[in-house]
Amino acid sequence: MLRTTIPLGRVAGIRVGAHWSALVTLGLFTYLLGRSLTDIHGNSVAVWLVAVTGAIGLFASLLSHELAHSIIARRSGTRVEAVVLWLLGGVSELGDEPKNPRSDLRIAMAGPLTSFVLGAAFLGVAALVGALVSGPVPAMLGWLAAMNLILAVFNLLPGAPLDGGRVLRALVWRHTGDRLRASTIAAYSGQILGTGLLILGGAELLLVGDGGGLWLMLLGWFLYSAANRELAAAGLRHRLGDTRIRDVMTEHPLSVPVDWSVADLLRSHIVHTDHRVFPVIDQAGRPIGELAWSDLTALPAAARETTAVQRVARPLPPTARVSGEEPLAIVASQVVLRPDFDVIAVIDPHGRLIGVVTATDLTLAVQRSALGLPTHRPERYPPPNTAL
Ligand SMILES: [Zn+2]
Repeated sequence: MLRTTIPLGRVAGIRVGAHWSALVTLGLFTYLLGRSLTDIHGNSVAVWLVAVTGAIGLFASLLSHELAHSIIARRSGTRVEAVVLWLLGGVSELGDEPKNPRSDLRIAMAGPLTSFVLGAAFLGVAALVGALVSGPVPAMLGWLAAMNLILAVFNLLPGAPLDGGRVLRALVWRHTGDRLRASTIAAYSGQILGTGLLILGGAELLLVGDGGGLWLMLLGWFLYSAANRELAAAGLRHRLGDTRIRDVMTEHPLSVPVDWSVADLLRSHIVHTDHRVFPVIDQAGRPIGELAWSDLTALPAAARETTAVQRVARPLPPTARVSGEEPLAIVASQVVLRPDFDVIAVIDPHGRLIGVVTATDLTLAVQRSALGLPTHRPERYPPPNTAL
């Protein structure tokens, strides 16, 4: 979801990144903490430095929460892609789903437990420092304690994709043995929770008229739409099982070099194939765009020689650039694939194109799995001595 991130390095072997929107939150937290500190301790550079430190401390707390999820996930054999900080906190990008209810529960609980422990620790340190010095520092530490405790409690609300929703899913899964049903219940619960927060935030905005209401509404909207996606993904995942992108992709796909003109393309061997949509690649073989025949029809014939392919190609959405190891169900729930118009570009660890998945491949996989057939790409013809 958030692939355009600034890399921040690795912690315990896990890739950590930040989306630019995290800066907005960092600024907002500095402002909110700074304003409440200056009310009591006066407006000075020192007070604002304490506020910045507090906001960074909160981000470090959010990061610890996510890293706890990721470390426990990796220990229980679940692939972890990265931890990303963004507008509404942190996200652990897991490469696949927990294998059983037990690890699902442990991964989910790791985050809120970490926040509880951090909250208690900051509370202790705030009391200790408060006994020694007065001023904005103990107040900032108290604020960090409160924020961590709020974070723990909020995340335990029982609706997916919040941690509490994962806990709910794990418990239903353990009780019924039915993972689809458990995911569905957790996602419905997330929709209800999201709607509730939207209404609560709207009421606060109207009645109290402060910015907190807007923040709640944003959270509610995010939760509602994420729960919607989870619902769709749960159904797909059930049907597609553990099928990975590499199982359904077309290897050695036809691609269009970015420095071609439209006329070059129309003179190439590509026109003699039945393919209708192509990835556009740069000099290093990395996919940077996509192009369908229909993108070219509006271009006057006279302009073909002078128009670069790059001008008519569409940029490839970040969610449409994936590794072959990613589960098909997760990718399919994030990318809109229109027949003969969109393509998923499969890349190797260096970002170079190694395969494509089209809407036809996806439909075929879903239909084959509904029929109980293997979802991987079938041979074009059955071997000659296969009995029918
Ligand atoms: Zn969490």
